[in-house]
Amino acid sequence: MPQAIEQPAIFSATLGLSHPWQITSVTFAKDGRRMDITIDIVQGSPLPCPCCGKAAKTRDTQLETWQHNNFFRFDAYLHANVPHIDCACCGKQQIERPWARAGSKFALVD
Ligand SMILES: [Zn+2]
Repeated sequence: MPQAIEQPAIFSATLGLSHPWQITSVTFAKDGRRMDITIDIVQGSPLPCPCCGKAAKTRDTQLETWQHNNFFRFDAYLHANVPHIDCACCGKQQIERPWARAGSKFALVD
């Protein structure tokens, strides 16, 4: 059975997560090599438009999978529910994924 951990703070710090992003689960595969991290947006959080900064509505979310083959020496898979937002001024926008910033070794796989 995968083992859950209680305090994923070190992982969220390393991924650069801040409110409203949160880690909802971390599990480890039995062979000790693979880690699965699930990330979600805190429900009901208004998200700023990346274009104009105004709070925008969440239109829908899409589950994305990102992979990093040496994250704390684990083969890490990130499962993120990424919201798409609808800004009154700018229209449909994608929000920034903190773990996908320049220099990050996470790559989108699905
Ligand atoms: Zn906007």
